[in-house]
Amino acid sequence: MSTITNGALGQTLTAPVIPERRERLTPVEIDRPKRVLLAAPRGYCAGVDRAVIAVEKALEQYGAPVYVRKQIVHNVHVVSELEKAGAIFVDEVDEVPEGSHIVFSAHGVSPAVVKGAADRELQAIDATCPLVTKVHREAVRFSKQDYWILLIGHEGHEEVEGTMGHAPERTILVNDPDEADRIEVPETENLIWLSQTTLSVDETMETVRRLRERFPHLKDPPSDDICYATQNRQVAIKKVAPDADLVIIVGSSNSSNSVRLVEVALEYGAKAAYRIDYASEIRQEWFEGVASVGVSSGASVPEVLVEQVLADLRDAGFENVEIVKTAEEDLMFSLPKELRTNATGERDERALGGRTRS
Ligand code: SF4
Repeated sequence: MSTITNGALGQTLTAPVIPERRERLTPVEIDRPKRVLLAAPRGYCAGVDRAVIAVEKALEQYGAPVYVRKQIVHNVHVVSELEKAGAIFVDEVDEVPEGSHIVFSAHGVSPAVVKGAADRELQAIDATCPLVTKVHREAVRFSKQDYWILLIGHEGHEEVEGTMGHAPERTILVNDPDEADRIEVPETENLIWLSQTTLSVDETMETVRRLRERFPHLKDPPSDDICYATQNRQVAIKKVAPDADLVIIVGSSNSSNSVRLVEVALEYGAKAAYRIDYASEIRQEWFEGVASVGVSSGASVPEVLVEQVLADLRDAGFENVEIVKTAEEDLMFSLPKELRTNATGERDERALGGRTRS
């Protein structure tokens, strides 16, 4: 195990353990030049950066264990590293001993969860991404204005549960374009659509189009709910996909934005696309007839996992890496307010956003 310097925390951490592949990949003969098309932006967004640092800082400030409701972000590697550092992940607040510290994940929570934590006298740290909080506020505001909210999102996703919990009596979930044709909506002129932050932009617009065919007075949200990071990663993979014989997306199976990247890559012309958690999952047979490999990663993926993919691709003869950059990202968030002042009254005003970290 080696050590790395974590610039954001100014500390030295133990480098994470990444599963190694049993046999190295070997080059496959192809009569075209081999290249990797590396999408940018990719990986950590500002909301994930903030949430992960919140857990690290809570551990540093209060000591282990610190409880976290649900996965802090949807990435198996990040979660397992935080578990090693002393975080305990639970499904619900009633699993947490009274009086303990609990962090709410980047995906956000409903007011019922906040109340449940308060009832158990838990010390809550809210790591909800501010862009998810923005959608919560929209849901509250429009329900108070007597609107019905058509929330486009995936049933069972934590973010959707949290957003619906802010206006439970006034929200109707629309999972996909086909459901837009079927859902039953009260007769009213007061209809607005909102969405989960990590959806496919194209599919969401198709859902809205089909909703509007049935409900012409449907109002748009005041600003995009699909967040900048989701949109930027989709734009970059759209540019990569038409030139890629194979696309590899690093991200976990429950990461909505990572799964969307695979779908978008296939829609935009990639001949094949796979999602992996670790480079060791790349299979030798994927390279048959492949000259160009597109690579990207979801918004909860540390860059070290992409570096491992690039290292394994080098073994397969893909040494030439071309960056396909479609946007710069500079959005920054501050720490959750509960962590901005430490025990000695010192303020921590760090700006957090999409750092490249292990
Ligand atoms: S993907 Fe978007 S909404 Fe989710 S944490 Fe990142 S910035 Fe926030």
